[in-house]
Amino acid sequence: MTLTITQASCADDYDPNSMPVAKARAFIHTFLSPVKGVARVPIRSALGRVLAEDIVSPVNVPAHINSAMDGWAMRFADLTPGGTTVLTEIGSSFAGVPFGKPVGAGQCVRIFTGGVVPEGCDTVVMQERAEAQGKSITFGGNIQKNQNVRFAGEDLKAGAVALARGRTVRAAELGMIASLGVGEVAVYRPLRVAYFSTGDELRAIGTPLAEGQIYDSNRYTLHGMLARMGVDAIDMGVIRDDPALLEQAFRDASEIADVVITSGGVSVGEADFVKSLLGKLGEVVFWKIAMKPGRPLAYGKIGGAHFFGLPGNPVSVMVTFYQFVRDALLTLQGVNPLPVQPLLKAVCTSAIKKMPGRTEFQRGVLYVEEGVWKVRVAGEQGSGILKSMSDANCFILLDDNTGNVAPGATVEVQVLEGVV
Ligand code: AMP
Ligand code: MG
Repeated sequence: MTLTITQASCADDYDPNSMPVAKARAFIHTFLSPVKGVARVPIRSALGRVLAEDIVSPVNVPAHINSAMDGWAMRFADLTPGGTTVLTEIGSSFAGVPFGKPVGAGQCVRIFTGGVVPEGCDTVVMQERAEAQGKSITFGGNIQKNQNVRFAGEDLKAGAVALARGRTVRAAELGMIASLGVGEVAVYRPLRVAYFSTGDELRAIGTPLAEGQIYDSNRYTLHGMLARMGVDAIDMGVIRDDPALLEQAFRDASEIADVVITSGGVSVGEADFVKSLLGKLGEVVFWKIAMKPGRPLAYGKIGGAHFFGLPGNPVSVMVTFYQFVRDALLTLQGVNPLPVQPLLKAVCTSAIKKMPGRTEFQRGVLYVEEGVWKVRVAGEQGSGILKSMSDANCFILLDDNTGNVAPGATVEVQVLEGVV
């Protein structure tokens, strides 16, 4: 039996007011499974998409025994162990133009990279290791049997799984699929993600700001982060802090999308009215995550859609997106296994003040100095300060147990390059 979100959160012995990052991530993960829709597409269109079926190789790769070098192909048994051997060249094998006949004792064939190794031959000596005088070719000692020969099926046997379901198709996979002669593959349909900002203070670009008003930036960071993930993103604009308007927006979003992401409205001051609204529309849990930035977070289901209620502060939006939403979207897209996000160790050159008991994601600049990886804080760390987020190329990850960090201490960093 699978638990509902409310049952699971009640059964949980963690305090929703101090939810550990890993625990929240694991909780969310139990409710995620890949989207149902699958499409067969020409392979170029599969770039960036996720395979919905195993790709079984219809052929051996390589298809034929062939040479890895330019040189001569011969029978290893004809070579004098430890001494020189003279063989007679009886023809050539080019890539795509095989010699086509068997090779007998005392004979060799001029061969080029990718050329089929003729019947009878089992070894290729590279041209730099041989001396030709007309058709008499002299080979030295120290030759290994099968050297420079690529055997049929050595990379992949016909019938073997070349790429498993769940793999993202990148350049290498595209080339590999093409190398099998496969022209169409099954991929999961794109995920539909609807998002909107909440807040009476938010104004759109192009309108002047009255006192206390700010421009909505979260929809732009979300646009950027979602674009990077290859989802179909649906921008629903800014919704004022008005129960009727919010209810309509949540309903609309959950009808058109697989995932609904909002920013703002989940902090203590505002959560109560959003809570009762979402309690009416679906099942949502509200947490104060033991992390900084990004403390308030809501997760749940509204109708069939997954819901992520991110905090309002611009940097909190980005941090919670990377720590919770990104993996969830990958899982819903069918990605399996999830990519590992490496934690690198670096020497911290800044002093950092920190209280134990929560995880902090400090914006950092990772650099190398005299061969040593070092990291410094990227600037002011307030959860509304996008400047330091923009200057950062990593998060300095300080876990629950860590207190103040002195300059020279080794810390763990999450690299943002290739992710943001
Ligand atoms: P909230 O979580 O709604 O209380 O918002 C927390 C802080 O983030 C407040 O200072 C908001 O003004 C700010 N904020 C909320 N939404 C946005 C947004 N879309 N763009 C920029 N700042 C925002
Ligand atoms: Mg707000």
